[in-house]
Amino acid sequence: MSSFSYSEFDLFQPTEEHSLLRKTVRDFSEAEIEPQAAKYDREEQFNGELFRKLGGLGLLGITVPEEFGGAGMDPLAVVIAHEEISTSDPGFCLAYLAHALLCVNNLCVNGSESQKREFLPKLCSGEHIGAMGMSEPDAGTDVLGMKTRAREEDDGFVVNGRKMWITNGCVDDGNTPCDCLLFYARTDKESDEKAQLSSFLVSKGTPGFSVGQKIRDKLGMRASNTAEMCFDDCRIPLENLVGKPGESLLHMMRNLEIERVGLAAMSLGIARRSLSVMMKYAEERKAFGRKLKEFGQIQEHIATSFAEYKAARTYVYDTARRMKLDREGTRLDSDGVKLFATPIGKKIADRAIQVLGGYGYVGEYVVERLWRDSKLLEIGGGTLEAHQKNITKDLYRDGAALR
Ligand SMILES: Cc1cc2nc3c(=O)[nH]c(=O)nc-3n(C[C@H](O)[C@H](O)[C@H](O)COP(=O)(O)OP(=O)(O)OC[C@H]3O[C@@H](n4cnc5c(N)ncnc54)[C@H](O)[C@@H]3O)c2cc1C
Repeated sequence: MSSFSYSEFDLFQPTEEHSLLRKTVRDFSEAEIEPQAAKYDREEQFNGELFRKLGGLGLLGITVPEEFGGAGMDPLAVVIAHEEISTSDPGFCLAYLAHALLCVNNLCVNGSESQKREFLPKLCSGEHIGAMGMSEPDAGTDVLGMKTRAREEDDGFVVNGRKMWITNGCVDDGNTPCDCLLFYARTDKESDEKAQLSSFLVSKGTPGFSVGQKIRDKLGMRASNTAEMCFDDCRIPLENLVGKPGESLLHMMRNLEIERVGLAAMSLGIARRSLSVMMKYAEERKAFGRKLKEFGQIQEHIATSFAEYKAARTYVYDTARRMKLDREGTRLDSDGVKLFATPIGKKIADRAIQVLGGYGYVGEYVVERLWRDSKLLEIGGGTLEAHQKNITKDLYRDGAALR
């Protein structure tokens, strides 16, 4: 018999490093992220100065090996960081996710040694801000329907097209783009029947690469910038091609798994915060001479929220524990956790508003912001319908999945 005791295993922080990371991020969130959250949401601003401080904590390159300036941590650490930041500010956390997972982790897993040496240290320190461009004005879920095209010419590519909804696409209210955008474009010929997608890196200042517009008036996630990006005869040198031509679907598949787990973890942060707000209020507020927490209908809001949060949390952390960053293999569950956990954050934020009555409806009590932010998690990184489609397909393909 092994001497291992199951009771010693803590799924949510299996090692000392994970516990320390949770404490570090929680302390930072409470001290620095929480106090600015309402202001940046209201003003639809991205807090670049605070963002760069995440580099000092090792969070901006959380999955990147130390030799490239990162913290060399695993997917479970990614979940911890996203859960903790989101308890205070999901909008700020979305900007973090776009940088650390969509751009930095993607480049780290799929880029060449020289690309990693050139781009990663500044992205990990916070000197540079990164983003990822997949979606377009006319193609989101239907990724093969993208129209941005990279035409091979001399010793590079000439890119034309538009990317839409790019988190961190711009870093201010004007036209300043992110420092580094990892993007996908078609490299097939227009006469080809099958789409071929390839991945590229483009830096700020490259002629023909610009911000089309900052998208304003979003429902939530207003503390992150969302932009349209334009490519007009933009020349990309061969050394900025990531991997081989036609490899993008593989890059996407690998990276979407960690992205979806990160987005699900953000929902956990929203759920936990909303539950604690509703519990505190139900303890303090009286109606008909009794505390709210004594009413059965309020207990249902609290108890159901707790059980749903714990179920989602267990599924998210268990999936992260089994995930490998450098290969695909947990798509069924990364779609599963996002499908299951993201509506739970929204539902619990909604219940919190209900328990607080009129007070829940205004910004001071935080849950109205969390409720607005939560909706994006059902859309970005794959819609709920896309997860349902993928899960069903994978279940029929893999007969062993239910064993
Ligand atoms: C705030 C914000 C930030 C974002 N950040 C980024 C980013 O950094 N980088 C990036 O590349 N993208 C980003 N996105 C884009 C996001 O990933 C897409 O919005 C999402 O993938 C959905 O694509 P779409 O908006 O084109 O909707 P569509 O794909 O057009 O879908 C519209 C509706 O049709 C449904 N639908 C589509 N196909 C099917 C089908 N086969 N079966 C059933 N239903 C279907 C969808 O589920 C949805 O309900 C962001 C979006 C937002 C709003």
